[in-house]
Amino acid sequence: MLEGKVALVTGAGRGIGREIALTFAGYGADVIVNYNGSAQKAAEVVAGIESMGRKAAAVQCSVEDYEACGKMINEMLALFGHIDILVNNAGITRDNLMVKMPEEDFDAVIATNLKGTFNTIRHIYRPFIKQRSGRIINLSSVSGLLGNAGQSNYAASKAGVIGLTKSMAKELASRNITVNAVAPGYIETDMTQAMSGPAKEAVIGQIPLKRAGNAKDVAEMAAFLASDKASYITGQVISVDGGMAI
Ligand code: NDP
Repeated sequence: MLEGKVALVTGAGRGIGREIALTFAGYGADVIVNYNGSAQKAAEVVAGIESMGRKAAAVQCSVEDYEACGKMINEMLALFGHIDILVNNAGITRDNLMVKMPEEDFDAVIATNLKGTFNTIRHIYRPFIKQRSGRIINLSSVSGLLGNAGQSNYAASKAGVIGLTKSMAKELASRNITVNAVAPGYIETDMTQAMSGPAKEAVIGQIPLKRAGNAKDVAEMAAFLASDKASYITGQVISVDGGMAI
């Protein structure tokens, strides 16, 4: 499904990003595994991709850093020859009620989740335009669609990702570049593992399918959106949430 394609996945050492990287490789893509702090885990993902006979490279870069994103993309273009798919997966939470939220926690979440998405798109759109093709998939969240008490920073960043996605889809459609967002619900990863006991049961109780999702559920949707099968889909926000946002 993705043979001959090169994908750059941000935050691909762990969690959903890791699963997207491995799933894409399983469908035939070569994968650039971006990480920030998880060097060892990123190296393991690279080894996993190479064991499938695909090419891979791990590259350290904080998506918050505009210049570093440009450097990463230029270096990877030189190494792989082309990039066809960008997945903006890197994301953080700093949850708190507004009454207790430090300014730096608001800024940090916006800087990684929203500005980080801008930073990579800003550097990759020119090569995409030149090659007259490209796929951009941005990770939003059910929180960005519905809001969530205690996540005003995170929900704002993920709602921002939706606005960015739709605007970029309109700007880039005439160049055969699609831009879509995936909005996961409650997915079992490091990000959600802090929640346990009654709080977790309460969240799962609100999911129509009555279970948490897994990273593979999200990765398969990202793979579909990255493939030729989705060539007539752009500017959409696809929920992968067991029905949470119905
Ligand atoms: P995890 O906390 O498990 O992993 C976060 C990933 O983001 C890590 O790979 C981390 O890299 C990377 N990352 C964080 N900051 C940066 C940065 N500045 N630069 C580069 N990479 C960075 O999260 P998930 O896998 O659960 O989430 C992945 C995406 O899906 C996020 O955008 C999240 O908001 C979204 N999402 C997740 C949901 C869930 O239920 N899990 C629900 C809805 C959306 P490293 O370890 O190298 O620092």
